Amino acid sequence: MSENQQASANIGVVGLAVMGSNLARNLASREGNTVAVFNRSRYRTDELVSAHPEAQFVPAFSYEEFAASLSTPRTAIIMVQAGKGTDAVIDELLAVFEPGDIIVDGGNANFHDTIEREARIRETGIHFVGTGISGGEEGALNGPSIMPGGSVRSYETLGPILESIAARAEDGTACVTHVGTDGAGHFVKMVHNGIEYADMQLIAEAYALIRRGTGKTPAEIAEVFSVWNQGELSSYLIEITAEVLRQVDAETELPLVDVILDQAGAKGTGAWTVQNALDLGVPVTGIAEAVFARSLSSAAGQRSAAKGLAGPSAVAVDDADAFIEDVRQALFASKIVAYSQGFDEIVAGAAKYGWDVKKGEIARIWRAGCIIRAQFLDTIAKAYAAEPELPALLLAPYFREHLESAQDAWRRVVIQAAGQGIPAPAFSSSLAYYDGLRSDRLPAALVQGQRDFFGAHTYKRVDKPGTFHTLWSGDRTEVAQEPSTH
Ligand code: NAP
Repeated sequence: MSENQQASANIGVVGLAVMGSNLARNLASREGNTVAVFNRSRYRTDELVSAHPEAQFVPAFSYEEFAASLSTPRTAIIMVQAGKGTDAVIDELLAVFEPGDIIVDGGNANFHDTIEREARIRETGIHFVGTGISGGEEGALNGPSIMPGGSVRSYETLGPILESIAARAEDGTACVTHVGTDGAGHFVKMVHNGIEYADMQLIAEAYALIRRGTGKTPAEIAEVFSVWNQGELSSYLIEITAEVLRQVDAETELPLVDVILDQAGAKGTGAWTVQNALDLGVPVTGIAEAVFARSLSSAAGQRSAAKGLAGPSAVAVDDADAFIEDVRQALFASKIVAYSQGFDEIVAGAAKYGWDVKKGEIARIWRAGCIIRAQFLDTIAKAYAAEPELPALLLAPYFREHLESAQDAWRRVVIQAAGQGIPAPAFSSSLAYYDGLRSDRLPAALVQGQRDFFGAHTYKRVDKPGTFHTLWSGDRTEVAQEPSTH
């Protein structure tokens, strides 16, 4: 390292693959930042530094050089392969950093790992911040939505740096906030991805319903999505859906969507969201259906074997325009349900792990930079600002009114899907959730009766306190299981 590189950088990036190099360039482009860069394989560092002289990076070729190039408190963002890669880099940094320094993991870590790492690293006096970063390569370069966890103290140093690179919402505010301690940032990023799965699945179902219900071509459906993008559904995902549907394959001249193999991949954060929801006892039906729909699509052998199974002979819709409007309303209603469920999981996670997560702040930082960015998030932020302790997001006046006015259209769409044999699991499960939540009585009473019958699991009554059991294999009289406290 040359002399002028001594302790000249206020922030460093370790891991210079696509995400790390873009994040480093973003950091370097902001006033006041000097960025130290390091990568295990030297060639990535050399390539980045020579391709971007304007960034005036401070390259390092060992962890010692990297640490020496950073002013104190040293602050380094790790952008490497999640899991073993992250642990390897953390160990190297711990050997050269000092108490008070800050290690930030910007990769897609499992929040359970982040909780463990933070507890272990805290003992050394070094701060560890697990942060969710959403927006893909483009977001990393131009402004992502950033969800940092970690100590309040570390955010004092880190906050201004992250604010300098985060996406800006229309009102000019930076899409970053201190989410909560230890794993809170990665937890919220996980739920963000789960919601993203649900949103994408709902849009895909809307496309399938319109295509099979009306016979419109992908290019024609692209126009429908472009029109929808002008209204309350306006979002990045609707916008790119129109782009994908409009694309024609150069080789076959067919719509690209007809040439792409219909097996959806996944990197795991959707499944994590559902696994944790199961542990927390939170019904995230929209997200779960989205994850399972990808699994079903990829079950190639079973799908091929099931091809001959009979379907209905129901015909396409009579009035295409009316049906498309129904689908639009059903999509918006199902989306409200999916987001409401996602926020329920955040609330439950925060309660279980002791995080003071502000729901309105989460909606605020998702308004720009991330994949689910949309006007809709602004509406959610306003709903939580008006009533921070809403029992469920869908009960906010704006959403409630939309659900109620969309419900007839929603039911017609689900009926059409079932009648025509078009799989629409996220649309129909969202409607079932809505109906479940608003039901005065649920058949859960019968389930409790069954549980008591075979396992003496007991039940409570609607008309008096206490716990009861019926002597099913005896004379079927009811016995109180414990004295009433009332
Ligand atoms: P990646 O392909 O996930 O990882 C490659 C980088 O990890 C390389 O710099 C590699 O170094 C380094 N690495 C792997 N094992 C290492 C080890 N044991 N020690 C030191 N370095 C190691 O890169 P990416 O796509 O840029 O993603 C980086 C992180 O961001 C990941 O956690 C990813 O999940 C997350 N993320 C990605 C996106 C996205 O859209 N791609 C979005 C948000 C978050 P070498 O060059 O030496 O091999």
